[in-house]
Amino acid sequence: MALAFIGLGGNIGDTKQLIKDAIVCLAQNPELKVLTRSCMYQSAPVNASGNDFINAVISIETQLTPNDLLHICQKVENTFGRERPFINAPRTLDLDVLAYDFVSVQEETLTIPHPRMVERAFVLLPLLEIAPDIDLPGFGKLAQYVDNVAHQRIEKVKGCNCPSQHI
Ligand code: ADP
Ligand code: MG
Repeated sequence: MALAFIGLGGNIGDTKQLIKDAIVCLAQNPELKVLTRSCMYQSAPVNASGNDFINAVISIETQLTPNDLLHICQKVENTFGRERPFINAPRTLDLDVLAYDFVSVQEETLTIPHPRMVERAFVLLPLLEIAPDIDLPGFGKLAQYVDNVAHQRIEKVKGCNCPSQHI
């Protein structure tokens, strides 16, 4: 069994509901068990257009390979009507495989750990909320990157039942 982390986010429509629905959708896969969900975070778009983003991170336990996990995530994105009219376009729902055990994957269609996560407060903060000691190949302890993203506007969505929800 591998412990993996998936980032979910979007900035079109009722993203909070979409994220919850997407987690339910993922959890229906018998080869995957959802362990924890972070709070939802609202942040200003980074290199993207449109409304503020809502993001969350979940931890899962799975027997799927990293590539199969990516395909499951892409299927869920498609279910929720994601279109890619141009790079960094506003999106209904984006699912990224952030990390998969201490595994490193460098393929054309899959890079793990996700290469840009330490530059993005909206990934780093929810991930550290549910995995404060996480340590990844190529990055080391992720907690050391928090200062680098301190200038990015981000806040926890009110009404989220923190601490992390075990689901
Ligand atoms: P982004 O998430 O960077 O905003 P997209 O969701 O459109 O952009 O992803 C573009 C491509 O990134 C996908 O086709 C996928 O093959 C690739 N990709 C590489 N590594 C990952 C990863 N760890 N998680 C999700 N997608 C990835
Ligand atoms: Mg993506």
